[in-house]
Amino acid sequence: MTEHHSTRAVHAGEEKHKPDHTLTTSIARTSTFTFRDSAEIAAFMQEKAGGNAPFSRSEYGRYGNPTQAAAERKLADLEGGERALLFASGMAAISTTLLTLLSSGDHIILSRDSFYQTRELVDVLLSRWGIESSLVENDHPAAFAAAIRPKTRLMFVESISNPFLRVVNLPKIVEIARGHKLLTVVDSTFATPINMRPLEFGADIVIHSATKYLAGHNDLLAGAVIGSQAALADIAAVRRLLGGITSADDASLLIRGMKTLGLRVHRQNESGLRVARFLEKQPGIERVWYPGLESHPDYDIARQLMSGFGGVVSFEVKGDFEKAGQFVDSLKLPFIGPTLGGVESIILQPAALYSLDPFERKLAGMKDNLLRYSLGIEDAEDLIADLEQALKTAF
Ligand SMILES: *Cc1c(COP(=O)(O)O)cnc(C)c1O
Repeated sequence: MTEHHSTRAVHAGEEKHKPDHTLTTSIARTSTFTFRDSAEIAAFMQEKAGGNAPFSRSEYGRYGNPTQAAAERKLADLEGGERALLFASGMAAISTTLLTLLSSGDHIILSRDSFYQTRELVDVLLSRWGIESSLVENDHPAAFAAAIRPKTRLMFVESISNPFLRVVNLPKIVEIARGHKLLTVVDSTFATPINMRPLEFGADIVIHSATKYLAGHNDLLAGAVIGSQAALADIAAVRRLLGGITSADDASLLIRGMKTLGLRVHRQNESGLRVARFLEKQPGIERVWYPGLESHPDYDIARQLMSGFGGVVSFEVKGDFEKAGQFVDSLKLPFIGPTLGGVESIILQPAALYSLDPFERKLAGMKDNLLRYSLGIEDAEDLIADLEQALKTAF
């Protein structure tokens, strides 16, 4: 029986019959795991010598725990991967993956509008170990091909980028990467496995900031890496060394969050399209960035690859830095702050949180009048009515 996404989100990865007859997966809040006797240690060592990770148990909290393992199985199932690894944050997932796959002298190709801390990690930290990088335009597969060098190891792209929601032509990128025996790593945080599954298009590794849609409630930080057993084996080994693993408490919250992933994301897809269409018609709004709008540069590729376009709508208000701030202040529903993908709507003027210096903002390509609105699960009518009253107040 091939089950649909919400069915799998509820049931996958967890045993039907659990210890103590609980319905939910318990929180294994423990730093370590004990052995009954020396014979049990010997049996465990035999299993490990067989080499078929993941093993039936963990011996220490930094190597894994059963709550986290259940969340990993659920996520692997949703993304269509053989295995998932959870991390303490999206950045722990990204840094552990890149530190595993790249060595001194290697070269990585990164899309220019990648998450800014992914770029910073590559530019500032990995460069110290002699790892070189090229930044290329997300919408220009030929530029990825042109950037390949003899020591290029991998291409790192985002399925939907932030804040302009550019959708990468993943099948094309994968084709180029495979032609040169490179790995394709996709940060698919914005898409979620509900809207797009990069492994189906041939990507080797999918990464999430599970802090966002997967957890969905703005109450935890987590990251994930999903792929084949072979692709993840070394990353799992390095996670033991770097130690950026999720706690059992957060893994439990993540399991709970993922059960409603389909419900939430379908709702956010619907609201996203409605809000984007509404904003596009408003005289106070200069431009709307949403891949489900025909006016978005990646509308065609988004429709080919994705079944929904998500709950983030970026838009530019008519006016300057101050005007954009005034508009944000006129909204009554959303919280003001970074992050996205949760049940609560959150709006951010990215330039305001980036730098006080207009020149620095300009240099970084931050548009002063740009707002990123992450729609929660409130009713679209209310979100739109709120935007309507804010437009009247500010313009
Ligand atoms: C938030 C985010 C990250 C970083 O994740 P954290 O959980 O904050 O460490 C990475 N990539 C994308 C696309 C993000 O939105």
